[in-house]
Amino acid sequence: MPQHDLVVTPEIAYDDGNLRTHLFDKGLLANEDHFRIVRRSIDARQKTVKVNLRVEIRKTPIDLEFFEYEVRDYNVENAPEVIIVGAGPAGLFAALKAIELGLRPIVLERGKDVRARRRDLAAINKDHIVNPDSNYCFGEGGAGTYSDGKLYTRSKKRGSVRRIFEILVAHGASPDILFEAHPHIGTNKLPKIITAIRETIERAGGEVRFDARVTDFILETEIKGVSLATGEQIKGVSVLLATGHSARDIFSLCKKRKIDIEAKPFALGVRVEHSQLQIDQVRYHRQTRGDYLPASSYSLVAQASYQQIDRGVFSFCMCPGGFIVPSATNQEEVVVNGMSPSRRDSKYANSGIVVAIEPSDLESYASHEELAHLRFQEEIEHKAWSAAGKTQAAPAQLLGDFVNGKTSSSLLDTSYQPGLTSIEMAEVLPKFIHERLRSGFRAFDKKIKGFVTNEAQIVGVESRTSSPVRIPRDSETLEHVSVKRLFPCGEGAGYAGGIVSAAIDGEKCMSRIAAMYTGRSEK
Ligand SMILES: Cc1cc2nc3c(=O)[nH]c(=O)nc-3n(C[C@H](O)[C@H](O)[C@H](O)COP(=O)(O)OP(=O)(O)OC[C@H]3O[C@@H](n4cnc5c(N)ncnc54)[C@H](O)[C@@H]3O)c2cc1C
Repeated sequence: MPQHDLVVTPEIAYDDGNLRTHLFDKGLLANEDHFRIVRRSIDARQKTVKVNLRVEIRKTPIDLEFFEYEVRDYNVENAPEVIIVGAGPAGLFAALKAIELGLRPIVLERGKDVRARRRDLAAINKDHIVNPDSNYCFGEGGAGTYSDGKLYTRSKKRGSVRRIFEILVAHGASPDILFEAHPHIGTNKLPKIITAIRETIERAGGEVRFDARVTDFILETEIKGVSLATGEQIKGVSVLLATGHSARDIFSLCKKRKIDIEAKPFALGVRVEHSQLQIDQVRYHRQTRGDYLPASSYSLVAQASYQQIDRGVFSFCMCPGGFIVPSATNQEEVVVNGMSPSRRDSKYANSGIVVAIEPSDLESYASHEELAHLRFQEEIEHKAWSAAGKTQAAPAQLLGDFVNGKTSSSLLDTSYQPGLTSIEMAEVLPKFIHERLRSGFRAFDKKIKGFVTNEAQIVGVESRTSSPVRIPRDSETLEHVSVKRLFPCGEGAGYAGGIVSAAIDGEKCMSRIAAMYTGRSEK
């Protein structure tokens, strides 16, 4: 199949009609030919923004083709049962894999289905009420449902990444994600896709149970199953534990039941909100991005020193044209994160700006042992709640004022629905984070002109960047280091960071379970 690499204007790259005319004019396409984009990436390094395209031309119509994923009817009603705790990306993709491998998944999720969950999100935003089982982190689809749905991953295994994208497309995601250099889905599209994945699991005979919070493990010489808050016990050939980085009760349960866990480095900071127009102007070198270019993004990293010790300061989960959202999982804490709709058309650009934290930074928490980092994270989130008025309103400061050590007399409009309270961020953040953030922002201002300004503000706290705890597993079998038949999985176990890597980890863990405990291996 002939493929062509082109460098074109945004007007051509983002409009099929214009692209057809361009290919025709270049003599690459005949009237009766068909084409599809294989890869698309923006190059905004020069004054004139260009788009790199790889286009495939064919004589026959080009239908959607899956190379890694096969859509088939499965029936696992009478198959051996495997327990999956958590219906986030790790749990759901593990369940899909179980079905392919001839196992019956029973997915236990503490939260509600996507529709019912929406009401609890409204209660956080409008009434400041946080349901500890149903919020931006907990519920069908996990933390990934009400997100930007960014699908970038550092995973090098192209085949595995492609397969996850194909599964998402098979369940309703736009095929664009198969060729964009920086694919994303958008929070308005994700709930439908998640529901379709659940329906595939149920159609094959698997089970997805909501309001099913796991409160204990059935442990003999190995794990036999789990107990729910209702007292019900559920057993299976093994337990895949994919409860995410916010399931603090699960980390405490592991400690109580003497299941090895360990404190893990993580990162903490704030979310910064600029106008999208300002970011577009700097990134695209023009007054507005126009009708074709997508909302622009950035990725920033710097080293910042405090008491002569360097730590990384970096942007995290940037959401162009998005919203800052309240991501607490308990009433007396404030946590922020970001999400965007598929069109990324809000007037705000937000991103986490966080500082890497190492165990040596938290020596005063050492008495909490494995939960030291988690206790620190909890304490900062509680301080943020206290400082901002004991509601879901978040502490905030103008960015210029933060960097220059001044209190902000007023704040800007924001996308954060519960509202903002002006405070000195130093009231909430310890000095080793506060000072590094300030020097990180100064470094970013050199990379993006005008980044530090009082036309932008910081909102606290961005504390759930990754899990502060690891549930260690054998690197080959992926089974817990000491508890047989227990498979710690996804972000909460410390083996993934983001939707795609969690999904890949879910598949990998399920493949090992199938091979080790049922003899059902992949073809
Ligand atoms: C607002 C927001 C925006 C984000 N944006 C992006 C993005 O654009 N791109 C990206 O790659 N990542 C994003 N992330 C991160 C991403 O969502 C996570 O990395 C990913 O969801 C982790 O998947 P997981 O399956 O390991 O865990 P989770 O998604 O956290 O899922 C864990 C599930 O387990 C359930 N659970 C917890 N405890 C129990 C229990 N005791 N019993 C039963 N069930 C339990 C929870 O309710 C939850 O549904 C975002 C996160 C948030 C909060």
